[in-house]
This record gives sequence, structure tokens and C-alpha cells, in this order.
Amino acid sequence: MSHEPVTVIGLGPMGRAMAGALLRGGHPVTVWNRTPGRADALVEAGAIRAATPAEAVTASPLTVLSLTDYAAMYQILGEDPDFLTGRDLVNLSSDTPDASREAATWAADHRARFVTGGVMVPPPAVGGPGAYVYYSGPGEVFAAHEPALRLIGDPRYLGADPGLAQLFYQAHLNVFLTALSALLQSAAMVTAAGIPAADFLPDAMGTLTDIPAMIGSGTELAAELSAGKHPGDLSTVLMMGATAEHILRTSEKAGVDRALPAAVKSQYDRAIAAGHGADGWTALYEVLKA
Ligand code: NDP
Repeated sequence: MSHEPVTVIGLGPMGRAMAGALLRGGHPVTVWNRTPGRADALVEAGAIRAATPAEAVTASPLTVLSLTDYAAMYQILGEDPDFLTGRDLVNLSSDTPDASREAATWAADHRARFVTGGVMVPPPAVGGPGAYVYYSGPGEVFAAHEPALRLIGDPRYLGADPGLAQLFYQAHLNVFLTALSALLQSAAMVTAAGIPAADFLPDAMGTLTDIPAMIGSGTELAAELSAGKHPGDLSTVLMMGATAEHILRTSEKAGVDRALPAAVKSQYDRAIAAGHGADGWTALYEVLKA
């Protein structure tokens, strides 16, 4: 079976990992990056270096973009990209759902087809077991390139709305970034007392991995949220809210940043004010969704 040529624009850690996976999968790969030196190792491994973005896009039916945001795509492709005509773009850069929708319209105005996506694993995991990628946009365009895209990670197609992939990506990254900030804020609380972070962080990793055991499967949580039922058998909003206040006061006393604990406390305060004190902690959802 012949492998379709693929162009990769944007060779940060993620773009380099994707181009490498496509090369290993047997695809002819053309690359372009604003800082040309970032293509060197890929060119040594068999990729073709394009001199310009236009040369890169016209080298392949499919161009994958891996950039910091969508603004970078417009800067790279320029104001009047005639060379996009008849090409398929798959943008795997982070941005808002609305930015994805606007870009799909922009691409259509330039007679290109456009699929959006979000890679859900870090660069070293790209192409390996457990890697997956959300996609949305025209189903026939996704299907046409699915064999190549599968080399990046298991593709999860969400539907025709170009904004859906970034909605899922940002919702996941919200969980991820907030947990990482909490981890560092907590490390700051402990080290402010003169205790090395190494005495705290190994057990903190256990706190992270214990969360699924406490919550159960996502399906169970989803059923609880959609039923609007929040049994308070184990952890009530009042109990968790009291702890949220203790975390805030401990942070303030330690002189470390208080923004994240203050935000969490305010969510519990609002849930209690709305009459959810005796409910389970999932009742926070009732104030968050509003
Ligand atoms: P980097 O920030 O390292 O790379 C960004 C790429 O965008 C580089 O090729 C950079 O070019 C290019 N770029 C940025 N701005 C411009 C611009 N104005 N004009 C031209 N080129 C520009 O990011 P990553 O490779 O780590 O990530 C790429 C995408 O993948 C991001 O959207 C990220 O959110 C997403 N992602 C990243 C993950 C990760 O762990 N790294 C995990 C999952 C998704 P240059 O080399 O010249 O600076």
C-alpha cells in the first residue's frame, strides 16, 4: 500500500514527534518551521525540508499544523494563500473552539478543507500505546486521512462542528493545568515551612492517583451530574468547604500564592449559600455550570 505524502508545519517538540511518527510509518514527510534548524534531525531521518510554507503545503495533499496557537497559522500561511486551493489542513494546535470555527471558514474561503484536532499526550508518547487525538470537522476529510493520522495516536472523531475538538482539548487541559498548579502551590506551602519538597511530593503523587478511586468511573460521575443527585454519604459540601478554608488560611500564613485556594473556597461558599451544604461535594457542579 502506498503512503500518502504528509507535510508537517511547526516543529516544536510536538511537531517533531508527529513528523517522526509519520516517517517511521512509511509516509513521505515534508517539513517547514520558522526556525529552520529545528528540522535538521528530521531531515537526517529522511524528511524533505521545504524552503517556504507554500512549497511545504503544495508538496502533500495533507498538511498537519502544530503551532502555539491559530494566530501562528495565519502568520505562516500569509494573507493571500492561493496555494491552499484543493489542499487539506489538519490543525493540531491549541486554541479556542471559536478560533477553530473561524479558521475552518477562513480555509473554505481559500478553497481548502479543514479539520481541527487536539493531541492528548505529551510528545514522547506520540505514536505509542495510549496516545490519542481528538478531531472534528468534515467527516469525509477526516476519513480520507485517517490512516496517516492514526500514526500520531488513536483518532477520536467527535463530529462535524470544527469547534468540538478544541472544546474537548481545553476541557482536558483544564483538569491537567489546574492539577499541576495545585501540586506546585502545595509544594510552596510545605517548602515555606523549611521542609524540602522531596519530603512531600512523593505522597502528593499518591493523592493524584487516588482521585479516580474516590470518584469512580467517569461514567458514574456523569450519571450523578446529569441526574442532579449529590448524595452526601461520605463527603459533604460543608465538610469539604471547611477544609477549603483551612487550605486558604494555611497558604496565607505561609505567605504563598492564595489565588487557587481562594477560588476553590469561593466555589464551596457559593454551593453552601445555594443550600447544598448537606449534599455531596459533586453539588459544586450546580453552581459551576451556572
Ligand atoms: P512549541 O511552543 O514548542 O512549538 C510551537 C511551534 O510553533 C514551533 O514550531 C514555533 O516555531 C511555531 N510558532 C509559534 N509561533 C509562531 C509564529 N508566530 N510564526 C511561526 N511559527 C510559530 O509547542 P509544542 O511543539 O510543544 O506544541 C505544539 C502544539 O501542540 C501546541 O498547540 C500545544 O498546546 C500542543 N500540545 C503540546 C503538548 C506538549 O506536551 N508539548 C501536548 C499536547 C498538545 P519556532 O520553532 O520558530 O519557534
